[in-house]
Amino acid sequence: MAQGTCDGCGRAVTAAGGVANLWTFGDRDGSEGTGMTLEFEDGSTHLLCYPCIDALPDGPTAADVERLERVDGETSRLVGP
Ligand SMILES: [Zn+2]
Repeated sequence: MAQGTCDGCGRAVTAAGGVANLWTFGDRDGSEGTGMTLEFEDGSTHLLCYPCIDALPDGPTAADVERLERVDGETSRLVGP
């Protein structure tokens, strides 16, 4: 287990295990912490909470992580038609 803050939104994150391969997190039953360290295709690693992971597009980059801070706050307003 690793503990830190989400690179996207800054909230406290408890990550399960080590570095996960991209998009292999599988089912989340709540017993594996509140986030995960992802290794991006560019080789950088980012500790992210699940809401931020969900907000990332396919093939995310460090720039997408920086965008998360805004996306996280806008999510509630983006829901709906
Ligand atoms: Zn986050």
